[in-house]
Amino acid sequence: MESACTIRGGCLCGACRYETDAAPINVRACHCRACQKATGAPFYARVMVPLDAVRMEGPIGWFSSSPEVRRGFCTRCGTTLFSERVAANAIGLTIGSLDDPAPFRPEAHIWVSRKQPWLQLEDDVPHYAEGPPA
Ligand SMILES: [Zn+2]
Ligand SMILES: [Zn+2]
Repeated sequence: MESACTIRGGCLCGACRYETDAAPINVRACHCRACQKATGAPFYARVMVPLDAVRMEGPIGWFSSSPEVRRGFCTRCGTTLFSERVAANAIGLTIGSLDDPAPFRPEAHIWVSRKQPWLQLEDDVPHYAEGPPA
């Protein structure tokens, strides 16, 4: 992949920026309550990429929402940027923080058992009641 495929994004105020040349591992929407709380949104859509391939800068704060996951956010404007799994060398980039979100379409919905009841999922990708199959 060449630099034309570089994925770039950042927070609302512009203080935090990130980029990666890596291809996405997957693109998913998670409807679990932790993701709802962390993003302040009905669900969390993210592009998962290799952690060691992401360059990031700015005043990023981190909160461990579980033993495996910590969430990265801008300490200035509060934008949720990342969900990081160090043990898996993976980091989720919030779709809304990408400079160009349009190319990234979730290929699965997970934790649909916690989905907001008013939300109608009419796409044709897999839906999983809880986490994705191993
Ligand atoms: Zn910011
Ligand atoms: Zn989740």
